[in-house]
Amino acid sequence: MQFNELSLHHNILKALAIKDLEEPTEIQRKAIPYALVGRDLIASSKTGSGKTLAFLLPAVHRVLTQSPLSRRDPRVLILAPTRELAKQVFLQLKWLIAKQPLRAALVLGGENFNDQVKALKHNPQFIVGTAGRVADHIIGKSLYLNGLEMLILDEADRMLDLGFEAQLKIINKAADHRKRQSMMFSATLDSAEIHDLTQILLKSPQRVTVGAASEEHKDIVQSFVLADHVTHKEALLSHVIQQKDYRQVIVFTATRSDAERLALLLKEQDIDAIGLSGELTQGQRNNIMNEFGRGKHQVLVTTDIASRGLDLLSVALVVNFDLPKLADEYVHRVGRTGRAGNKGEAISFVGPKDWQSYLRIKAFLQQDIAFSQIEGLVAKFTGLKPIKPKNKTRVAKKTSKKVRDSQSAPSAPRVNTMQGKEVGDAPMMRKPRSSKPITDDD
Ligand code: ADP
Ligand code: MG
Repeated sequence: MQFNELSLHHNILKALAIKDLEEPTEIQRKAIPYALVGRDLIASSKTGSGKTLAFLLPAVHRVLTQSPLSRRDPRVLILAPTRELAKQVFLQLKWLIAKQPLRAALVLGGENFNDQVKALKHNPQFIVGTAGRVADHIIGKSLYLNGLEMLILDEADRMLDLGFEAQLKIINKAADHRKRQSMMFSATLDSAEIHDLTQILLKSPQRVTVGAASEEHKDIVQSFVLADHVTHKEALLSHVIQQKDYRQVIVFTATRSDAERLALLLKEQDIDAIGLSGELTQGQRNNIMNEFGRGKHQVLVTTDIASRGLDLLSVALVVNFDLPKLADEYVHRVGRTGRAGNKGEAISFVGPKDWQSYLRIKAFLQQDIAFSQIEGLVAKFTGLKPIKPKNKTRVAKKTSKKVRDSQSAPSAPRVNTMQGKEVGDAPMMRKPRSSKPITDDD
């Protein structure tokens, strides 16, 4: 099938042709027809499968072909969980509408509020932004959504993780539910919280799913390596990065301080690495992402801030220095490689502290994961014994003590309490995900 069979506006087809995009991906083929007839959508497909265009093409088509509900208010609002992702979606939108008399504004936390107020006064048809700042403009009466025709949530599950629920409700209330079309896209949209949100935001949504999130990603070779402690993980890290000539590598850590520290450590070994964490100013974050996106550095060391949505086609290896606590997050991190048909590798280190996460990921993927060994760096650690259900609390406590003792970074801040801060404008409170198992290190 070709894009020109999807009855999209010819200006859109022209823009796609300039980028040499001819055939829609499976999610695009399935979702776009529903979106074009105005249906609400919950769409999921694996990472790197082209979800961005699956919502941008129908959004631009609508603005080009239908008369607006309001001349002043934005017609399409696209929300993303992080500033980096919002910016990337904005850039894709910009090239799509480049040759048309259409305006788009980017509304992100951490950037000058008054400049955004000015940009909003030019009545852009499209707004791409993060939920916190968009809600601030609604409250500040610099943004009205009465004329909104389309609300799109990219990575909606992540927005909930980051505690944006209240902001999403403000946005939902500001836009007329009956007149607008609403769509959600992610690789992972199955939690109970997402279900509650879809009840509020969507009306009789059509579900479009291509594969399951847990389905094996054929373009990504995934492996797990046992590790004893932080120093051991560091030795494994420099080994795996140097074992092949990887074009670009992303390393995920649990804490910001580790992201900075490991970047320095790699630099000392003459590896061109750079650290990205939420502690940096937005300008610094932008510079780092621009530079990495242009291939200027080989290795990016970061927290979950970069796990969602970012489309960096030369990332050939993803390393989980620490495992994420939620299996969904594992899927998104690993999905920074193997995009748009490229091949990729993902290597995860599993130390005592990662064990519970490892079990959760293993159960989620429903695959038998064998541990790989690296010669000269084989761990003594072979896994924790299962916790006996009878005296659960007592044994769990014991385990956590052992875990702490064997980890050499006891003062490292916990991820959970920091996650809200990672996006800068997210509220500090993080809603616990009741559907996920709570463990001693949660
Ligand atoms: P997802 O949101 O599903 O993770 P993206 O929308 O970021 O994926 O797309 C991943 C990559 O695939 C991007 O580089 C994008 O330009 C490319 N892409 C999207 N649609 C197509 C297509 N129809 N043909 C070829 N490449 C595509
Ligand atoms: Mg995406």
